[in-house]
Amino acid sequence: MTPISGNTAIDDRQPIPVDYLLEPYLEERGIRLGILRLDSIHPDISGNKWFKLKENIRLALENGYDTLLTFGGAYSNHLAATAAAAAGAGLKAIALVRGWHGSVSLSPTLDFCVQQGMQLHFVSREEYNLKYDPAYLEKLGATFGQPYIIPEGGNNEAGRKGCEQIAAHIPPDAGHVALAIGTGTTFCGIRNGLDPATALHGVPVMKNGGYLAAEIREHLEQPAGSWRLYTEYHFGGFARHTPQLVDFMNGFYRRHAIRLDFVYTAKQVFAVSDMIRKGSFEDNAHIICVHTGGLQGNSSLKDQLCF
Ligand SMILES: *Cc1c(COP(=O)(O)O)cnc(C)c1O
Repeated sequence: MTPISGNTAIDDRQPIPVDYLLEPYLEERGIRLGILRLDSIHPDISGNKWFKLKENIRLALENGYDTLLTFGGAYSNHLAATAAAAAGAGLKAIALVRGWHGSVSLSPTLDFCVQQGMQLHFVSREEYNLKYDPAYLEKLGATFGQPYIIPEGGNNEAGRKGCEQIAAHIPPDAGHVALAIGTGTTFCGIRNGLDPATALHGVPVMKNGGYLAAEIREHLEQPAGSWRLYTEYHFGGFARHTPQLVDFMNGFYRRHAIRLDFVYTAKQVFAVSDMIRKGSFEDNAHIICVHTGGLQGNSSLKDQLCF
Protein backbone atom coordinates (compact mmCIF):
# COMPACT_ATOMS: atom_id res chain seq x y z
CA MET A 1 0.00 0.00 0.00
CA THR A 2 1.04 3.62 -0.48
CA PRO A 3 2.33 4.91 2.84
CA ILE A 4 0.09 7.69 4.07
CA SER A 5 1.98 10.43 5.83
CA GLY A 6 1.24 12.48 8.92
CA ASN A 7 -1.59 11.87 11.33
CA THR A 8 -3.35 9.33 9.18
CA ALA A 9 -0.77 6.57 9.26
CA ILE A 10 -2.92 3.45 9.11
CA ASP A 11 -1.29 0.08 8.85
CA ASP A 12 -4.24 -2.05 7.89
CA ARG A 13 -2.04 -5.11 7.45
CA GLN A 14 -2.04 -5.30 11.24
CA PRO A 15 -4.66 -7.65 12.64
CA ILE A 16 -7.99 -5.96 13.32
CA PRO A 17 -9.62 -7.22 16.54
CA VAL A 18 -12.74 -9.36 16.60
CA ASP A 19 -14.67 -9.06 19.89
CA TYR A 20 -16.92 -12.01 20.70
CA LEU A 21 -20.13 -11.22 22.55
CA LEU A 22 -21.05 -13.04 25.74
CA GLU A 23 -24.83 -13.32 25.92
CA PRO A 24 -27.03 -16.12 27.30
CA TYR A 25 -29.13 -16.32 24.10
CA LEU A 26 -25.95 -17.05 22.12
CA GLU A 27 -24.41 -19.48 24.59
CA GLU A 28 -27.60 -21.56 24.79
CA ARG A 29 -27.24 -22.40 21.13
CA GLY A 30 -23.46 -22.45 20.88
CA ILE A 31 -23.48 -19.45 18.52
CA ARG A 32 -20.30 -17.40 18.25
CA LEU A 33 -21.06 -13.77 17.35
CA GLY A 34 -18.01 -11.58 16.79
CA ILE A 35 -17.69 -7.89 15.95
CA LEU A 36 -14.88 -7.07 13.50
CA ARG A 37 -13.72 -3.71 14.82
CA LEU A 38 -12.98 -1.66 11.71
CA ASP A 39 -13.99 1.26 13.91
CA SER A 40 -10.70 0.80 15.75
CA ILE A 41 -8.34 1.54 12.85
CA HIS A 42 -8.41 5.33 13.10
CA PRO A 43 -10.41 7.87 15.11
CA ASP A 44 -11.34 10.03 12.08
CA ILE A 45 -10.97 7.84 9.00
CA SER A 46 -13.16 5.22 10.46
CA GLY A 47 -14.13 1.79 9.38
CA ASN A 48 -15.03 0.96 5.82
CA LYS A 49 -14.40 4.53 4.66
CA TRP A 50 -10.65 4.00 4.90
CA PHE A 51 -10.84 0.89 2.71
CA LYS A 52 -12.99 2.74 0.15
CA LEU A 53 -10.56 5.65 0.06
CA LYS A 54 -7.20 3.92 0.13
CA GLU A 55 -7.08 2.76 -3.50
CA ASN A 56 -8.59 6.06 -4.66
CA ILE A 57 -5.87 7.98 -2.82
CA ARG A 58 -3.20 5.70 -4.19
CA LEU A 59 -4.46 6.31 -7.75
CA ALA A 60 -4.69 10.06 -7.17
CA LEU A 61 -1.09 10.22 -5.91
CA GLU A 62 0.28 7.90 -8.59
CA ASN A 63 -1.35 9.98 -11.31
CA GLY A 64 -0.07 13.27 -9.97
CA TYR A 65 -3.31 14.80 -8.71
CA ASP A 66 -3.04 17.34 -5.90
CA THR A 67 -6.75 17.59 -5.02
CA LEU A 68 -9.64 15.22 -4.25
CA LEU A 69 -13.20 16.31 -4.96
CA THR A 70 -16.16 14.40 -3.58
CA PHE A 71 -19.83 14.64 -2.59
CA GLY A 72 -21.86 14.27 0.59
CA GLY A 73 -24.48 15.56 2.99
CA ALA A 74 -23.97 17.62 6.14
CA TYR A 75 -23.53 14.51 8.36
CA SER A 76 -21.64 12.34 5.90
CA ASN A 77 -19.09 9.89 7.33
CA HIS A 78 -17.55 9.80 3.87
CA LEU A 79 -16.86 13.55 3.87
CA ALA A 80 -15.29 13.41 7.33
CA ALA A 81 -13.09 10.47 6.35
CA THR A 82 -12.11 12.02 3.01
CA ALA A 83 -11.17 15.31 4.69
CA ALA A 84 -8.89 13.56 7.19
CA ALA A 85 -7.39 11.08 4.70
CA ALA A 86 -6.67 13.82 2.15
CA ALA A 87 -4.97 15.94 4.80
CA GLY A 88 -2.86 12.95 5.84
CA ALA A 89 -1.86 12.20 2.25
CA GLY A 90 -0.93 15.81 1.53
CA LEU A 91 -3.83 16.28 -0.88
CA LYS A 92 -6.25 19.18 -0.96
CA ALA A 93 -9.92 18.28 -0.65
CA ILE A 94 -13.09 19.85 -2.00
CA ALA A 95 -16.60 18.76 -1.02
CA LEU A 96 -19.81 19.46 -2.87
CA VAL A 97 -22.33 19.49 -0.04
CA ARG A 98 -25.98 18.69 -0.67
CA GLY A 99 -28.46 21.43 0.21
CA TRP A 100 -28.07 25.15 0.73
CA HIS A 101 -26.27 26.16 3.87
CA GLY A 102 -29.14 27.92 5.61
CA SER A 103 -28.12 27.99 9.25
CA VAL A 104 -25.48 30.06 10.98
CA SER A 105 -23.39 27.18 12.26
CA LEU A 106 -22.05 24.16 10.41
CA SER A 107 -22.92 20.61 11.42
CA PRO A 108 -20.24 18.99 13.64
CA THR A 109 -19.24 16.87 10.63
CA LEU A 110 -18.72 19.85 8.32
CA ASP A 111 -16.97 21.73 11.11
CA PHE A 112 -14.51 18.86 11.33
CA CYS A 113 -14.06 18.83 7.55
CA VAL A 114 -13.17 22.52 7.56
CA GLN A 115 -10.69 21.96 10.39
CA GLN A 116 -9.00 19.34 8.20
CA GLY A 117 -8.65 21.94 5.46
CA MET A 118 -11.48 20.75 3.25
CA GLN A 119 -13.12 23.39 1.05
CA LEU A 120 -16.93 23.24 1.12
CA HIS A 121 -19.22 24.17 -1.76
CA PHE A 122 -22.93 24.07 -1.02
CA VAL A 123 -25.10 23.13 -3.96
CA SER A 124 -28.87 22.84 -4.39
CA ARG A 125 -30.45 19.41 -4.32
CA GLU A 126 -31.14 19.71 -8.05
CA GLU A 127 -27.50 20.34 -8.81
CA TYR A 128 -26.40 17.65 -6.36
CA ASN A 129 -28.51 15.11 -8.21
CA LEU A 130 -26.28 15.60 -11.26
CA LYS A 131 -23.44 13.93 -9.34
CA TYR A 132 -23.15 11.03 -11.81
CA ASP A 133 -23.74 13.09 -14.99
CA PRO A 134 -20.54 13.02 -17.12
CA ALA A 135 -21.11 16.52 -18.52
CA TYR A 136 -21.57 17.92 -15.02
CA LEU A 137 -18.45 16.13 -13.78
CA GLU A 138 -16.49 17.55 -16.68
CA LYS A 139 -17.68 21.02 -15.77
CA LEU A 140 -16.64 20.47 -12.15
CA GLY A 141 -13.23 19.32 -13.34
CA ALA A 142 -12.75 22.51 -15.33
CA THR A 143 -14.04 24.71 -12.48
CA PHE A 144 -11.87 23.19 -9.76
CA GLY A 145 -8.56 22.63 -11.59
CA GLN A 146 -9.00 18.97 -12.64
CA PRO A 147 -9.23 17.29 -9.24
CA TYR A 148 -9.41 13.51 -8.74
CA ILE A 149 -13.18 12.97 -8.41
CA ILE A 150 -14.49 10.36 -5.97
CA PRO A 151 -18.22 9.61 -6.22
CA GLU A 152 -20.54 10.02 -3.23
CA GLY A 153 -19.81 7.38 -0.60
CA GLY A 154 -16.60 6.28 -2.37
CA ASN A 155 -18.79 4.22 -4.69
CA ASN A 156 -16.44 3.29 -7.53
CA GLU A 157 -14.23 0.46 -8.76
CA ALA A 158 -11.28 1.54 -6.60
CA GLY A 159 -13.62 1.75 -3.60
CA ARG A 160 -14.79 -1.82 -4.13
CA LYS A 161 -11.19 -3.01 -4.67
CA GLY A 162 -10.09 -1.48 -1.38
CA CYS A 163 -13.01 -3.14 0.42
CA GLU A 164 -11.98 -6.57 -0.87
CA GLN A 165 -9.13 -6.31 1.62
CA ILE A 166 -11.61 -6.31 4.51
CA ALA A 167 -12.28 -9.98 3.77
CA ALA A 168 -8.73 -10.86 4.83
CA HIS A 169 -9.58 -9.72 8.36
CA ILE A 170 -12.54 -12.08 8.72
CA PRO A 171 -11.78 -15.32 10.61
CA PRO A 172 -11.54 -18.05 7.94
CA ASP A 173 -13.94 -20.41 9.69
CA ALA A 174 -16.77 -17.86 9.91
CA GLY A 175 -19.88 -19.22 8.20
CA HIS A 176 -21.69 -15.88 8.07
CA VAL A 177 -20.70 -12.24 7.72
CA ALA A 178 -23.11 -9.33 8.15
CA LEU A 179 -22.81 -5.64 7.43
CA ALA A 180 -24.83 -2.47 6.96
CA ILE A 181 -25.41 -1.19 3.43
CA GLY A 182 -25.54 2.39 2.15
CA THR A 183 -24.35 2.35 -1.46
CA GLY A 184 -23.37 -1.34 -1.47
CA THR A 185 -19.71 -0.59 -2.30
CA THR A 186 -18.41 -2.28 0.84
CA PHE A 187 -20.80 -5.21 0.45
CA CYS A 188 -19.60 -5.89 -3.12
CA GLY A 189 -15.95 -5.57 -2.15
CA ILE A 190 -16.29 -7.98 0.77
CA ARG A 191 -18.31 -10.47 -1.31
CA ASN A 192 -15.63 -10.39 -3.99
CA GLY A 193 -12.84 -10.91 -1.46
CA LEU A 194 -14.57 -13.47 0.73
CA ASP A 195 -14.45 -17.27 0.57
CA PRO A 196 -17.48 -18.26 -1.56
CA ALA A 197 -18.47 -20.76 1.16
CA THR A 198 -19.13 -17.91 3.60
CA ALA A 199 -22.63 -16.41 3.42
CA LEU A 200 -22.90 -12.61 3.30
CA HIS A 201 -25.87 -10.82 4.89
CA GLY A 202 -26.59 -7.18 4.09
CA VAL A 203 -28.82 -4.77 6.00
CA PRO A 204 -29.80 -1.73 3.90
CA VAL A 205 -30.29 1.21 6.25
CA MET A 206 -32.85 3.06 4.11
CA LYS A 207 -36.48 2.32 3.29
CA ASN A 208 -37.18 0.10 0.28
CA GLY A 209 -33.53 -0.98 0.05
CA GLY A 210 -34.44 -3.84 -2.26
CA TYR A 211 -33.38 -1.77 -5.28
CA LEU A 212 -29.77 -2.35 -4.19
CA ALA A 213 -29.87 -6.00 -5.22
CA ALA A 214 -29.62 -5.18 -8.94
CA GLU A 215 -26.73 -2.75 -8.41
CA ILE A 216 -24.89 -5.24 -6.23
CA ARG A 217 -25.34 -8.05 -8.74
CA GLU A 218 -23.74 -5.86 -11.41
CA HIS A 219 -20.53 -5.52 -9.43
CA LEU A 220 -20.00 -9.05 -8.19
CA GLU A 221 -17.32 -11.22 -9.70
CA GLN A 222 -18.68 -14.57 -10.82
CA PRO A 223 -19.19 -17.07 -9.41
CA ALA A 224 -20.20 -15.09 -6.31
CA GLY A 225 -20.87 -16.82 -3.02
CA SER A 226 -24.28 -16.61 -1.43
CA TRP A 227 -25.64 -13.26 -0.30
CA ARG A 228 -28.94 -11.81 0.88
CA LEU A 229 -30.43 -8.46 1.80
CA TYR A 230 -32.75 -7.84 4.76
CA THR A 231 -34.80 -4.73 4.03
CA GLU A 232 -37.00 -4.59 7.15
CA TYR A 233 -34.46 -3.09 9.57
CA HIS A 234 -34.37 0.56 8.44
CA PHE A 235 -36.10 1.98 11.57
CA GLY A 236 -38.01 4.56 9.54
CA GLY A 237 -35.46 5.30 6.84
CA PHE A 238 -31.99 6.64 6.23
CA ALA A 239 -30.59 8.41 9.34
CA ARG A 240 -33.92 7.87 11.10
CA HIS A 241 -34.10 6.19 14.48
CA THR A 242 -36.67 5.05 17.02
CA PRO A 243 -36.56 4.82 20.84
CA GLN A 244 -36.14 1.05 20.41
CA LEU A 245 -32.96 1.56 18.38
CA VAL A 246 -31.54 4.06 20.87
CA ASP A 247 -32.32 1.66 23.77
CA PHE A 248 -30.57 -1.09 21.86
CA MET A 249 -27.44 1.06 21.39
CA ASN A 250 -27.33 2.01 25.07
CA GLY A 251 -27.91 -1.58 26.22
CA PHE A 252 -25.28 -2.87 23.81
CA TYR A 253 -22.74 -0.38 25.10
CA ARG A 254 -23.49 -1.24 28.74
CA ARG A 255 -23.11 -4.98 28.13
CA HIS A 256 -20.19 -4.99 25.70
CA ALA A 257 -18.51 -1.56 25.91
CA ILE A 258 -18.84 -1.24 22.12
CA ARG A 259 -20.29 1.92 20.61
CA LEU A 260 -22.56 1.55 17.61
CA ASP A 261 -23.69 4.39 15.32
CA PHE A 262 -27.39 4.97 14.78
CA VAL A 263 -27.24 5.35 10.99
CA TYR A 264 -25.57 2.05 10.10
CA THR A 265 -24.05 -0.36 12.59
CA ALA A 266 -26.83 -0.26 15.22
CA LYS A 267 -29.41 -1.29 12.61
CA GLN A 268 -27.17 -4.08 11.38
CA VAL A 269 -26.29 -5.53 14.78
CA PHE A 270 -29.92 -5.23 15.86
CA ALA A 271 -30.96 -7.12 12.72
CA VAL A 272 -28.50 -9.95 13.34
CA SER A 273 -29.45 -10.40 17.00
CA ASP A 274 -33.13 -10.29 16.06
CA MET A 275 -32.62 -12.93 13.36
CA ILE A 276 -30.65 -15.14 15.75
CA ARG A 277 -33.51 -14.94 18.29
CA LYS A 278 -35.97 -15.82 15.54
CA GLY A 279 -33.96 -18.90 14.58
CA SER A 280 -32.62 -17.73 11.20
CA PHE A 281 -29.10 -18.99 11.98
CA GLU A 282 -28.17 -22.61 12.72
CA ASP A 283 -26.97 -23.77 16.15
CA ASN A 284 -23.19 -23.41 16.62
CA ALA A 285 -23.04 -20.82 13.84
CA HIS A 286 -19.97 -18.57 13.67
CA ILE A 287 -21.15 -15.10 12.67
CA ILE A 288 -19.06 -11.96 12.16
CA CYS A 289 -20.70 -8.53 12.19
CA VAL A 290 -18.51 -5.93 10.52
CA HIS A 291 -18.32 -2.75 12.60
CA THR A 292 -17.94 -0.28 9.76
CA GLY A 293 -17.26 2.70 12.05
CA GLY A 294 -19.15 5.95 11.51
CA LEU A 295 -19.25 6.97 15.16
CA GLN A 296 -18.74 10.65 14.35
CA GLY A 297 -22.34 10.64 13.13
CA ASN A 298 -23.62 10.08 16.68
CA SER A 299 -22.91 13.70 17.62
CA SER A 300 -26.47 14.67 16.66
CA LEU A 301 -27.86 12.06 19.09
CA LYS A 302 -25.50 12.50 21.99
CA ASP A 303 -28.11 13.66 24.52
CA GLN A 304 -29.81 10.30 24.20
CA LEU A 305 -26.74 8.08 24.43
CA CYS A 306 -24.96 6.85 27.56
CA PHE A 307 -21.55 6.95 25.79
C1 LIG B 1 -20.78 4.60 4.71
C2 LIG B 1 -21.05 3.58 5.75
C3 LIG B 1 -21.63 2.34 5.45
C4 LIG B 1 -22.14 2.01 4.08
O1 LIG B 1 -21.14 1.64 3.20
P1 LIG B 1 -21.49 1.43 1.66
O2 LIG B 1 -20.22 0.97 1.09
O3 LIG B 1 -21.91 2.77 1.12
O4 LIG B 1 -22.59 0.45 1.56
C5 LIG B 1 -21.79 1.42 6.47
N1 LIG B 1 -21.43 1.71 7.73
C6 LIG B 1 -20.89 2.90 8.07
C7 LIG B 1 -20.55 3.15 9.48
C8 LIG B 1 -20.68 3.87 7.10
O5 LIG B 1 -20.16 5.06 7.46
